[in-house]
Amino acid sequence: MFKRILLKLSGESLAGANKQGIDPQHLAEYAEQIKAIAEKGVQVAIVIGGGNIFRGLSGSQKGFDRVKGDQMGMLATVINALALSSALEAIDQPVRVLTAIRMEPIGDFYSPAKAIRLLEKGNVVILAGGTGAPYFTTDTGSSLRALEIKADVMLKGTRVDGIYTADPEKDPTATKFTEITYDEVIRRGLKVMDLTATAMAKENGLPIYVFNMDQLGNLQKVINGEAIGTLVKPGASFR
Ligand code: UDP
Repeated sequence: MFKRILLKLSGESLAGANKQGIDPQHLAEYAEQIKAIAEKGVQVAIVIGGGNIFRGLSGSQKGFDRVKGDQMGMLATVINALALSSALEAIDQPVRVLTAIRMEPIGDFYSPAKAIRLLEKGNVVILAGGTGAPYFTTDTGSSLRALEIKADVMLKGTRVDGIYTADPEKDPTATKFTEITYDEVIRRGLKVMDLTATAMAKENGLPIYVFNMDQLGNLQKVINGEAIGTLVKPGASFR
C-alpha cells in the first residue's frame, strides 16, 4: 500500500456535464473517496486544476495577456481547492489548503516541510495555485509537488480508466495500456499529461498511475493495488 500519494484532479473533473463550474454532487463523491483512504492511514496531498473556470492558454487565444491569463488560471485552482476543502470539512475530514502564492488567510503559504508536517498529522493537504508560475500547468505542479513532498506515486484521477493508444471517446478501436514508459507516452504523443510534466516525472523516476476517479470506490481500489488503470514508469514494457 502507498504511504503518501499526490492525487491530481483536473478542474473539469469537478464540473458537471457542461464542464463548467463546480458540481456539488461530484465534489461530495470525491470528498468521500478521499476520506476513505485517508482514514486507512494514507497521507493524501492533492493538486487541483482550474480548467473548469479558466485556462491561461485559451485566454491568450482570446486576447488576454498570457501571464495575466495564467495568473487567472492559478486563482481558479484556488477556488477549486477551497470548494474541495469545504466538502472534506463537511464530512469531518481534517484538511488544509496551502497556496503557491501568498494569500493568507485563504491558505498558508506552501513549503514542502509544512506540507509534510500537516500530512504526518493526518490532514489531507490541498496544494493550490499550481507551481505559482505562469507557463506551467497543474500537471507540472503535480509532478513537482509529488517530488518535493516525496510521494510514493502521483495518481492522476481522470474520466477515463487509463491510457489508450488513441482517445477512446473518439476512437472505438483504441486499446488500453496496463503499463507504459514515459518515453512511449512522449513518442506516441499521448495526451496524458503535458510534456513538461512527463519529462519531469521521467527525469526523476516518479511513477504515475492514471485511473478513472469518477467511479465510486476506484481510489480505494488503486490504493489496494488493483490494476484498474495504467502505470507510467521508467523501463516498463507496454502491451
Ligand atoms: N497555471 C499556471 N501555472 C501553474 C498551474 C496552472 O499558470 O503552475 C494556470 C494555467 O493558465 C492553467 C490554469 O492555471 O491553464 C489551470 O490549470 P490547468 O489547465 O492545469 O487545470 P486542469 O486542466 O487540470 O483543470
